[in-house]
Amino acid sequence: MADERPSRPERPDRPERPRGDRPGGRPGGPGGDRRPYQRKKVCRFCKNRELGIDYKDAKALRPYVTERGRIVPRRISGTCAKHQRVVCNAIKQARSLAILPFTTTSI
Ligand SMILES: [Zn+2]
Repeated sequence: MADERPSRPERPDRPERPRGDRPGGRPGGPGGDRRPYQRKKVCRFCKNRELGIDYKDAKALRPYVTERGRIVPRRISGTCAKHQRVVCNAIKQARSLAILPFTTTSI
């Protein structure tokens, strides 16, 4: 007979944490598919060769600028590297001519 060990100190009761109910937890959890399907994005300017990029045409540049005045990254817009560069320069040119805003004032 070995000497009996003192019984383990009782741990304070831990509330069982319900899984998948964390604040800020995303449905699907980590590693889940964020994009169940991916549509093939195609560069608008490559597809339509006649479509020019004009710094004076604010309406044409609008889809490439966010509400806050930021340039939309090409992973979002789908523009190819070559045309993104041209669009980017056109936006910057338009900004300096006050055709497009650098930013919008927060209310
Ligand atoms: Zn392109």
